[in-house]
Amino acid sequence: MENYRRREFIKLLGAGGVLSLLKTGKASAGGVNAVIELPPLPFQESLITGREKGGRVLIVGGIHGNEPGAYKAAEILRHLKVKKGELLIAPRTNFVSILTNRRGYNGDMNRKFAHISKKDPDYPKVKKLKELIKNYKPDLLLTLHDGFGFHSVNPKAWGQCIVIDEEVYKGIELGKAAKTVSKRVNALIDRKKWKIPVFNTHTFRKNTKHPEQRKSLTYFCLKECSVPAICLEVSKQLPDLYHKVKFHILMIREFFKLHGVETEPSIDTVLKNLNEFLEPRVSYSTQLLINGRKVEVSSDKTFKLPKGSSVKFLSFRGTEGTNAITEDVNANLRKVGIRKRISFDVKDDFKKLFTVRFVVG
Ligand SMILES: [Zn+2]
Repeated sequence: MENYRRREFIKLLGAGGVLSLLKTGKASAGGVNAVIELPPLPFQESLITGREKGGRVLIVGGIHGNEPGAYKAAEILRHLKVKKGELLIAPRTNFVSILTNRRGYNGDMNRKFAHISKKDPDYPKVKKLKELIKNYKPDLLLTLHDGFGFHSVNPKAWGQCIVIDEEVYKGIELGKAAKTVSKRVNALIDRKKWKIPVFNTHTFRKNTKHPEQRKSLTYFCLKECSVPAICLEVSKQLPDLYHKVKFHILMIREFFKLHGVETEPSIDTVLKNLNEFLEPRVSYSTQLLINGRKVEVSSDKTFKLPKGSSVKFLSFRGTEGTNAITEDVNANLRKVGIRKRISFDVKDDFKKLFTVRFVVG
């Protein structure tokens, strides 16, 4: 947690306000005049099984919250049927960072797979993902990221490349598949800058230039679970979300071919109609319970609350990325006591839809 956030939070509530509130659940304790409650941010996962036997692939999106190409690509795949093989998809591993559009609202989650404190707000999500990998034991794990720059023109940049920890690790072949995918995808890319080479970080070597990768998800998969794991990076500097998602899906299509995974509609069809997948036609709203009364909100709205009020965000209508977040206090908190005022943004992932404000008195 960043210190300034904690300070803001204490300032808003008064010392001891939060603790007494969370213990008693009443809106009158410690100078708290109203309690606002949001549902916990879910760890989303979808298991999609095909009729025909094929490979089992686990796709992880959203470890970094400001990388929409990654989590949107995972989200699109989640809505497909599987004809052959099996997919397990966790699109929004770090939902609080997605909604706040930060790389890591609680620090870099991809440095928490070797060790994480139980006090870390990311602990439940990291633990959940680790358990998922250990229990499911996929044939391949793909973790999706939008990195900075373009690796083909700047080898220090992490954007537009397929990252492997070693060519081969304890009999697990990573390099061959990565090179095959790289070659096939690059045959479709004209601009040199946008080409997607393989980036081997040699994480298991003593003299690796990237010892920090020993705290990453892919290293955890290889070392602790013997699960082949590869990181797909598109560039943050691509012109738009469309291109970011497109390159992710182009890489994924080739990995699916190698592992005998087929979807319905096919990945080719998804690529042809990508804009439609990216812009689902939905209407957005949230249902609130304000002092026992249900209210539907779908645009900017300010509510005046009497002292002692209790408000709950009951549900959200829209997409799987639709939820509410406040940055007036620590965004990890899903139950907050307020003295005077607070505002919540209802968002579809990074995109702000409308603001709901509460003012006491
Ligand atoms: Zn990332």
